[in-house]
Amino acid sequence: MSEARVLVVDDDEGVRRALVTALTDVGCEVRESADAASMRAALGAWEPHLLLLDAALPDGSGTDLLQELRAGEATRDLPVIVLATRLPDELTELAFGLGATDVVRKPFRPRELVARVQAHLRAQALLRSTQNSLHTAEDELARVLEDSENRRKLVDILHEVTGDLSSDEIYHILARRVARALSLSRCSVILARPGDRVGVVATAFDNPAIRNFEINLEAYPEIRAALEHGHPVLVEDLHTSPLYEDLRREWAANGTQVPIRSVIALPFTLGKVQAGVFFLRRMVNEPPLTNEDVEFADSVIKAAVAAIHRAQVIETTKADNARLEVLAHTDPLTQVLNRRALTVRLASELERARRYDSVLTLLMVDLDHFKNVNDTHGHLVGDEVLREVATLLQNEVRSVDVVARYGGEEFVAVLPETSLVGATTFAERIREHIAATPFAASMVEPLHLTASIGVSSYPSATINTVDDLFARADEALYRAKADGRNRVCL
Ligand code: GH3
Ligand code: MG
Ligand code: MG
Repeated sequence: MSEARVLVVDDDEGVRRALVTALTDVGCEVRESADAASMRAALGAWEPHLLLLDAALPDGSGTDLLQELRAGEATRDLPVIVLATRLPDELTELAFGLGATDVVRKPFRPRELVARVQAHLRAQALLRSTQNSLHTAEDELARVLEDSENRRKLVDILHEVTGDLSSDEIYHILARRVARALSLSRCSVILARPGDRVGVVATAFDNPAIRNFEINLEAYPEIRAALEHGHPVLVEDLHTSPLYEDLRREWAANGTQVPIRSVIALPFTLGKVQAGVFFLRRMVNEPPLTNEDVEFADSVIKAAVAAIHRAQVIETTKADNARLEVLAHTDPLTQVLNRRALTVRLASELERARRYDSVLTLLMVDLDHFKNVNDTHGHLVGDEVLREVATLLQNEVRSVDVVARYGGEEFVAVLPETSLVGATTFAERIREHIAATPFAASMVEPLHLTASIGVSSYPSATINTVDDLFARADEALYRAKADGRNRVCL
């Protein structure tokens, strides 16, 4: 039993010497006290593993001292073997009742006493190691619980984030969730790149109204540092941090009271591009932010930023697709449907009219002597007039109708659920409207135009296909031109 420390307390010098010798022989470190006062002094200076205590000391009884030891914080669990000359049953009972580990009668055989001391020391060592491993286990358990709590929060956050959301919405949700998870009153997302003097607040949890608001990064050294170095910057107290030294001087000069205590600037990248920082703050009346907070927020944000990136890719792809879709169907000059899209649309409208026994009318609108516009005012003015005519037609039709540019200065309107009679009235209104409109394109003087319109309608004896519809309208248009233009023909 090496390094076991034993304190021997007895006023009998012979007893002390015998015990010291016997215990030292088995490898114990031994100290001795002759009275209660020096025992207290020894206990204060040295932490023995076991105490051998004489029941009758000149300055105190063994039972009183036991009581005193058990009441003391440092000696509550100290094993105490009581040595008593007389050993009536009551004393034994009393000693055990007061928490003596063992009671040994004097005179004792040193070998036997040493064996008991060793047994108690072993039991004590076992108890200590069990307590230690229990503490370790408790710490481990606490850590695991905290970890799983953090993971649960993370899963919650990601769950909210992985939906089909725009990145603006994701920034907002993230800021809110990080703020909640870390009990922050302030959390915002600031978009900026290294070296930028100005950042844009994408979202602020504490003030949802703040969006796309510009801030001067001169006043935020931790944000600049985080952007610069690409890793999180923690300022536990900006009233003492060297990073804020210059600003504190400014605050003092201006009498500015700053209610913020701690800040964390956590940089994040989207794809490979430095996108900005998450900016976490606690007020002076709140606990400071710590490195653990940095770690937690960092892991949440890293995972979530991957989700933002995914959302952005989806957004861009969607926008690109939508743009391509529009391009494929739209006439670039006038923004109405192009001929290809018109043909597709007309086919489905004709099919529908056939299936539901409905009617469908097509107007072919050709501007009269349009060549003159170009010749007189130039091609650019001609283009502008074509745009104005397209807008005029678009404004004139119902939402179910379709306007398209058929080619050059020819437009087509498709009118579902409209019979030849109704369509003729409509065509007449368009013709009058064009004739009455002063086109502003030339800038110099208003320009006047007329149009000829050919009309064809389904059902009709000679119309079965989209081509038939076009052909009949074209024939009618040719007649309108031949009859002197600025007119509607069937
Ligand atoms: P009309 O139809 O009354 O017989 O005479 P027009 O002069 O309108 O007919 P024509 O078919 O002879 O000429 C069509 C003109 O339309 C020729 C061309 O300069 C013009 N044009 C066609 N497409 C465009 C365009 O995209 N921009 C401009 N500025 N002009 C165009
Ligand atoms: Mg023409
Ligand atoms: Mg023409």
